[in-house]
Amino acid sequence: MSYRFDTLAIHAGQPNDEATGAVTVPIYQTSTYQQLEPGVNRGYGYSRTEHPTRHALERNLAALEGARFGLAFASGMAAIHNVLSLLRAGDHVVTTQDLYGGAWRIFVKFFSKFGVDFTFVDTGNLAAVEEAIRPETRLLWLETPSNPLLKVTDIAACAAIGRAAGVRVVVDNTFATPVLQQPIALGADIVVHSTTKYINGHSDCLGGAVITDDEALFTELKFFQNAIGAVPGPQDCFLILRGIKTLSLRVERHCANASAIVEFLRRSERVRRVYYPGFGAIVSFEADDALEITPNLELWTLAESLGSVKSLFCHPATMTHASMDPDVRRAVGIGDDLIRLSVGLEDVRDLIDDLERALAPRSVACAR
Ligand SMILES: *Cc1c(COP(=O)(O)O)cnc(C)c1O
Repeated sequence: MSYRFDTLAIHAGQPNDEATGAVTVPIYQTSTYQQLEPGVNRGYGYSRTEHPTRHALERNLAALEGARFGLAFASGMAAIHNVLSLLRAGDHVVTTQDLYGGAWRIFVKFFSKFGVDFTFVDTGNLAAVEEAIRPETRLLWLETPSNPLLKVTDIAACAAIGRAAGVRVVVDNTFATPVLQQPIALGADIVVHSTTKYINGHSDCLGGAVITDDEALFTELKFFQNAIGAVPGPQDCFLILRGIKTLSLRVERHCANASAIVEFLRRSERVRRVYYPGFGAIVSFEADDALEITPNLELWTLAESLGSVKSLFCHPATMTHASMDPDVRRAVGIGDDLIRLSVGLEDVRDLIDDLERALAPRSVACAR
């Protein structure tokens, strides 16, 4: 039987425990498993290779993205590293211009050391994507909505371009989550997540995921997962599985709160520009003297990361995107007056009141 998203979130990969009847997948806190005879085990041999809590999470993540195969990692960056392991010297990657700072860093400052070349384009511009593809291009790496400018890329159109050119299409789906966007159904080959963000959703652990419906590709990526070893422990897998059970409820409220905040920001005199793709709960804006606003926010926490129940905000130029070369960063449009909000699940009226106080003209904010 094929179940719908909210049912899969709670059931996929998580049958009641056969041995005990436990209704929640236990935390299998063990590093190794008894072998029945050399080379023969009950399905698990060593926890780097696989363990039951991770296995449940991997099957669950695959189901949520409408695919057959999932791999879980210790962080989003470990997941990105896993996919980049497909590359060899001489290969080329076309990717989104304003992407996650850590992705930019591993591309430019790490993988380029091994002779891999990267071209950054505005992937919203399909002609630019097509033009950037070379004979040695292996991956088209998309982040949509992008970070922090929230530009939207047409995944289906890019998947068609990739297919025609023999280039695999990877989508970092961290911002949209599978609740709002399912890239595999749109033709992408691989989905990457930082499960640290909405999927876990509670700012209490790190995680990453790689999902594909291509069995040969899965076999290759699973080999890298075990060979490199950046895998999550059972406790983290448990927390992420726990987060997933309320993913769609949370995302729904995150989005409702975000759209109320966008309305407020668009009315604010101090705000010059609001970046919001019309869905999701990450909102960026430019305001006069943005850095002066930050100490005035009380309810919003100044922190890296996003997608938590708790509302967070950051200054991309000095925080999430500080590892980008300053001239590249400015050329991409990540200016010094840009603030990125990750809208949480507090009462949105309190979130707006706090923003209103912080964005008030200086004399008013100081007088309170
Ligand atoms: C946070 C993030 C990552 C990296 O994930 P970590 O879990 O912090 O390693 C990758 N991509 C996007 C879009 C992110 O927001």
